[in-house]
Amino acid sequence: MKRRDFNRSLLMAPVLAPLATAARKVQAGRAIPWQNWSGGQHASPSGRLSPKTEDELAQLLKNASSVIRPVGAGHSFSPLVPTEGSILSTRYFNTVAASDDLRAVVGAGVKLNQLGEPLHKLGQALPNMPDIDEQTIAGALSTGTHGTGANFGAMHSYVEALRLVTPRGEILNCSRSENPEVFDAARVSLGALGVITQYTLRNMVPYKLKRKTWMQPLQQTYEEFHTLAEFHRNFEMYYIPHSENALIITTDLTDDEVSPRGEDGDNDAVRELQMLRDYASWWPWLRKRLITAVSNTIEPEEHVDWWWNIYPSDRAVRFNEMEYHLPREDIVAALKQVVETVETRNPDVFFPIEVRVVQEDDAWLSPFYGRPSASLAVHRYFEEDYQPYFNTIEPIYQPLAGRPHWGKLHTLDAKTLAERYPRWQDFNEVRRELDPKGVMLNAHLKKVFGHA
Ligand SMILES: Cc1cc2nc3c(=O)[nH]c(=O)nc-3n(C[C@H](O)[C@H](O)[C@H](O)COP(=O)(O)OP(=O)(O)OC[C@H]3O[C@@H](n4cnc5c(N)ncnc54)[C@H](O)[C@@H]3O)c2cc1C
Repeated sequence: MKRRDFNRSLLMAPVLAPLATAARKVQAGRAIPWQNWSGGQHASPSGRLSPKTEDELAQLLKNASSVIRPVGAGHSFSPLVPTEGSILSTRYFNTVAASDDLRAVVGAGVKLNQLGEPLHKLGQALPNMPDIDEQTIAGALSTGTHGTGANFGAMHSYVEALRLVTPRGEILNCSRSENPEVFDAARVSLGALGVITQYTLRNMVPYKLKRKTWMQPLQQTYEEFHTLAEFHRNFEMYYIPHSENALIITTDLTDDEVSPRGEDGDNDAVRELQMLRDYASWWPWLRKRLITAVSNTIEPEEHVDWWWNIYPSDRAVRFNEMEYHLPREDIVAALKQVVETVETRNPDVFFPIEVRVVQEDDAWLSPFYGRPSASLAVHRYFEEDYQPYFNTIEPIYQPLAGRPHWGKLHTLDAKTLAERYPRWQDFNEVRRELDPKGVMLNAHLKKVFGHA
């Protein structure tokens, strides 16, 4: 018996049939609960929409009688998606095609892990990527998702054009020459201007990367930070909490033979740090010695592979995260403060603290607008309360005019955000014009945009 026939015969069974009917009623009436990747955000949307064409999408938005929130892969930590209205997926907008030379048109619902080989076959490659590849392209671009590299912008800085369906039901082509103001607003727009259906991305010729990882003293890393960032195509570092060490990761172009990364050791390493926290947090001096000694035994590694196999890692241990983007020149001083705060006030923390560098760009709500930046990210295990820890760290970023990652946790409101984004008012004018009834606004976005 085939699996499908088996399932069908089960549903025919008198005991299971009423259950199936009840499940369908729940689906048709009150919808199935939604939650994000970390489990920190929940919602019970009354509708789940998945339009198949732009015209269908335009009708849905134009006739909406309650809030509609676009959803990608649900990998944002902040409450950008939750609504009691409807959530809308662009999963049917899922094609990848070449356009001009080294340009590709990518459907909004395509996941980053569905881009590598198709682009490779087209003779193209993304210039950079974040450290996971589960996100949809629209979800990633809409929050300013970035990788690392002093000479590389966040993902949205490689967008040449996009198509936006507005809450008024228009379908707009946007680029630097067509609807340029909407283009500047929409590249990073938190799903607040309508729904994006496709992007034209500016790509590169395919390339291989050599990824090197090694452990070195934190003090040395403070001194070498800017040199490492300048010298390597991509550079990031992780401070290992309650130790004297930092893990360095660099990637550079290579023509060497492929030598794959194999299974990701990051998840085991995080589990080991958690175990050391559980056993030794009562004796801070012992814990520091222990973690430093254990991390000193970690051997340097080197791997070569095509770009899409090198950038992303597997993140099996769930967490909540706060990440702020700071002026690049302030990063070492800020990191020193974060390290001191972790060591003196947060004995429970075991997740490594991540620092990356990102080039400036000119999208109005880009956290990298007009300034070369460095990003500092703190994480908390998903079953533990992140608030007390994040409350001790977030104030460090305020005198530095830090801009939070839109997809990660923060407490800033419209007043403060307006001071940190030179084109804040321009963005809001475009938003009010495209969405006069506030169809795209949930409670979180009302706070972010100061909408009464
Ligand atoms: C384990 C993990 C690792 C991460 N690593 C990184 C990293 O390395 N670098 C980094 O910068 N970020 C990182 N992030 C954050 C993540 O990239 C962002 O939060 C991203 O927005 C998630 O994409 P998504 O597809 O899940 O979108 P969702 O979280 O579902 O949605 C994000 C936003 O996009 C909007 N949106 C979705 N689709 C559309 C559409 N078609 N039109 C208009 N708006 C739309 C939504 O309304 C929402 O505002 C990480 C997150 C996790 C959980």
